[in-house]
Amino acid sequence: SFSLQAKMSRPVQARRLEGIDKNIWVEFVKLAATYSKVNLGQGFPDFPAPDFLTEAFMRALSGGNHMLHQYTRAFGHPPLVKVLAQFFEKLLGRDVDPMTNVMVTVGAYQALFCCFQALVDEGDEVIIIEPFFDCYEPMVKMAGGTPVFVPLRPNPPKDGKLMSSADWQLDPAELASKFSERTKAIVLNSPNNPLGKVFSRGELGLIAELCVKHDVLCISDEVYEWLVYDGKQHIRIASLQGMWDRTVIIGSAGKTFSATGWKVGWVVGPNRLLQHLRTVHQNSVYHCATIAQEAVAQGFQRELMLYGKPESYFVQLPKELQQKRDWLVQSLDGVGMKPIIPEGTYFLVADISQFKSDVPEVPNSDEPYDYRFAKWMVKNKGLAAIPLSAFYSEAHKNNYTNFIRFCFAKEEATLKAANDILQKWKQEKTS
Ligand code: PMP
Repeated sequence: SFSLQAKMSRPVQARRLEGIDKNIWVEFVKLAATYSKVNLGQGFPDFPAPDFLTEAFMRALSGGNHMLHQYTRAFGHPPLVKVLAQFFEKLLGRDVDPMTNVMVTVGAYQALFCCFQALVDEGDEVIIIEPFFDCYEPMVKMAGGTPVFVPLRPNPPKDGKLMSSADWQLDPAELASKFSERTKAIVLNSPNNPLGKVFSRGELGLIAELCVKHDVLCISDEVYEWLVYDGKQHIRIASLQGMWDRTVIIGSAGKTFSATGWKVGWVVGPNRLLQHLRTVHQNSVYHCATIAQEAVAQGFQRELMLYGKPESYFVQLPKELQQKRDWLVQSLDGVGMKPIIPEGTYFLVADISQFKSDVPEVPNSDEPYDYRFAKWMVKNKGLAAIPLSAFYSEAHKNNYTNFIRFCFAKEEATLKAANDILQKWKQEKTS
């Protein structure tokens, strides 16, 4: 009596997904795959992960321990949580217990998801500093929370010099005004994607003071912790007075060891917070790939031994990336696409306001200029980048449509090819 063709008529989508279905990466990754000759869009290296890491993976895969092909401890493979605890004891100057203060996740992405699901309730407000890694907003909303945005405000240098990510700053009064009794957490991302800003001790001190004053948690996304340039120092907010107890530190082996496809991440923090993240983890993902964890553990053991020495990957990688940053800065500056020099990360934001005449207007389109520009550039020049306004809330994105983000974690040949495209473009414009 019932038809096989019977269509469902009830809504199938859970209400928590309303308004978060759009995702910049789906569209721009596809565009880059279809049109780009040089892809400086999505954030991953096109150079190999270090040999010591891939060799560790091979040993784990084909060595004598067949148990590495089975589930491991749900909250983190013991060798990995142990070495992470040792590492963070050094970095934070405090005791870190491998079993209760560290948890391994499927990349930093799942670490973020666990934080929001475990710590944010219906009606809670979460402060997000703009521009931000785009998934923070939908993740807060999925947890039932309300994102509250506060922008970094650009102060261009008066001497005509190129801008630096350090010139983008929080207005202290504006930041303070966002804290209320509904505020549950603030998300801090230093070094910051997309700007490359490395928050100073003063800026972190201000955030910490407000967190303590209003009894607010800090979700500290530090996936680019080792990618800091020009002798700058990455300061961990958890090491500031009163902050350990209220901070979850998030890290990523993908960014740390140039192996984003492995999707190994972690959280470090007090047990009173991590116990709730473990509840989310055990009821969603539960186990992360054992072999990848084993190899990352060996990578960290090497780095612990070489800590601060010139052979350390954490010393070498930022040196190499700083050179790549400088090449891209030069290429962009040379054609009038003004770069904002990043202090950290492998991203660089450039000002495209001088290129408006290159990109045809689309009648009746409300698509922001940076989106139109990035699409036009990949289709017509074969160079892929990401529009900056994708890293802003709906309410503020229209104020930031004159910039695009490039990723410079690329082989020298890739950056040269990008330079060739830009040079040719410049010649076409002037001839
Ligand atoms: N946080 C930030 C700021 C990122 O840029 C990224 C990756 N682009 C992540 C988290 C996610 O990292 P993972 O690949 O380890 O999940």
